[in-house]
Amino acid sequence: MIDATERRGAGIEPRAIKQEGDAGLSITWGDDRVCHYTAPGLRRGCPCAQCVNEWTGQRVLKPESVAKELTILEISIVGRYALNFRWSDGHETGIYSFRYLRDLCEEKN
Ligand SMILES: [Zn+2]
Repeated sequence: MIDATERRGAGIEPRAIKQEGDAGLSITWGDDRVCHYTAPGLRRGCPCAQCVNEWTGQRVLKPESVAKELTILEISIVGRYALNFRWSDGHETGIYSFRYLRDLCEEKN
């Protein structure tokens, strides 16, 4: 999913990553944009192979199967390009590249 041709730039370089309560996250990007995320929203967008069919790109995860009460148990940084979340539903295989997180943020605005 992530490859060497991925674009780089201030817009996908987080300057600050802050967990907000149990179920929120904010990222301040290098271009000063601040994006807010919710745990259920991020979980629904999980890009892992269990949630998205690798061949067709089709989302397998049903949005309604994600509880509104979902919380973030742990956030870790993967390499220098992505975040990984451990959710309260036990799921933890999604690798969210910074580019993907930025795209998610732009999509909903
Ligand atoms: Zn997943």
